[in-house]
Amino acid sequence: MSQAGIIQRAADGGLRIEDVALDAIAQQFGTPCYVYSRAALAAAYAGYREALATHGVADRALVCYAVKANSNLGILSVFARLGAGFDIVSGGELARVLAAGGDPRKIVFSGVGKSREEMRAALDAGILCFNVESASELETLDAVAGAMDKRAPVSLRVNPNVDPKTHPYISTGLKTAKFGIPFEDALALYRRARDLPNLEIHGIDCHIGSQLLDPAPAAEAAAKILGLVDALAAEGIVLSHIDVGGGMGIRYRDEAAPTAAEYLAPLLQVLAGRNEKLLFEPGRSLVGNAGLLLTRVEVLKHGEEKNFAVVDAAMNDLARPALYDAWHDIVPVRVPVKKLGAGGTAKVAAKRYEIVGPICESGDFLGHDRDLDLAEGDLLAILSAGAYGMAMSSNYNTRPRAAEVLVDGANIHLVRRREEIAQLFALESVLP
Ligand SMILES: *Cc1c(COP(=O)(O)O)cnc(C)c1O
Repeated sequence: MSQAGIIQRAADGGLRIEDVALDAIAQQFGTPCYVYSRAALAAAYAGYREALATHGVADRALVCYAVKANSNLGILSVFARLGAGFDIVSGGELARVLAAGGDPRKIVFSGVGKSREEMRAALDAGILCFNVESASELETLDAVAGAMDKRAPVSLRVNPNVDPKTHPYISTGLKTAKFGIPFEDALALYRRARDLPNLEIHGIDCHIGSQLLDPAPAAEAAAKILGLVDALAAEGIVLSHIDVGGGMGIRYRDEAAPTAAEYLAPLLQVLAGRNEKLLFEPGRSLVGNAGLLLTRVEVLKHGEEKNFAVVDAAMNDLARPALYDAWHDIVPVRVPVKKLGAGGTAKVAAKRYEIVGPICESGDFLGHDRDLDLAEGDLLAILSAGAYGMAMSSNYNTRPRAAEVLVDGANIHLVRRREEIAQLFALESVLP
């Protein structure tokens, strides 16, 4: 299991997250329901901080949680209390971070299409830095800051043209990507930034992709970026921080995912002996394995070719399988004690199932070819669903979005109530 330690099968055959039984959560809050572990969030964050301390750079390093991975206020508040910074990509995420008690001076603002209004809100809040992604954005930001009589702190997101060797939809650092400023154009754009009156150059950043299992491409990108930092310094443009982005991969199935220490070691080796502050923007690796999606089997359809288990969660709740053909482990919440095998694994797999949702799309699946012993009404846990799960959910098919629960030891916090159907069309109107 990819979440060993945080999710465990008790002697009674029931799955627990920290000190809470998952079937108790389903009973209290219904399904589908996202369930997160505070201990797992804290442990993932500590993994980064400890690795930074090991390399002696903790004092000048800031871990900015990439909010888009999971923007629930409960989760943001956990990271805010741990002292984390935040990487945001919209004015909406800015508002969330502030509402959750995040420190605006630890916020970096990424994204290829920031609106003027978003720029104003971020300048008002006093964020740490704008990660600027184009020449046009640089000019607009200068104008917006000037009109507010402020100076905008900027970093240029440079595209190092390094292949992160990940899924094409989550690869961002190649020349063909829409993200970032081409490496060859960066020097000229820094010169332009220096000449604009309402900008203050702070740093440089890159982010080459997501679910990176090999740390080498990130280290390679950092090395390329450093060359640029030194070339800039030779022209008198001295940067105060280097932001190496996020992207560390996690184990969903059997991937050899690196620990934070393993992922950061080559990167920090490249960055050793520098004076700049170091920024990191991890999203998935801080939350992915801290959450699961709890769902109930509604209908079993046994056929000649295939067996279907229709569950009450669907692609609107967890889009990753439909979108990226992503694999999530799916395990029964309760295994009868007589069927418990060694190590708490279920002994027999009665049938091979397609685990699908009720949405009217053939792409609405959560897992293919899963060997499970199922009955209607059974609860299933879809694991490693803490990142890009709820955050990418929708109301497709007018389905209320799932409840979200954050477990802390034996305490259960409902951090998002289940949506009600009337809320889903409350902003709409019929014709007069
Ligand atoms: C999505 C994103 C991240 C986080 O990526 P993960 O793979 O979730 O760590 C960090 N920085 C930027 C600019 C992003 O777009």
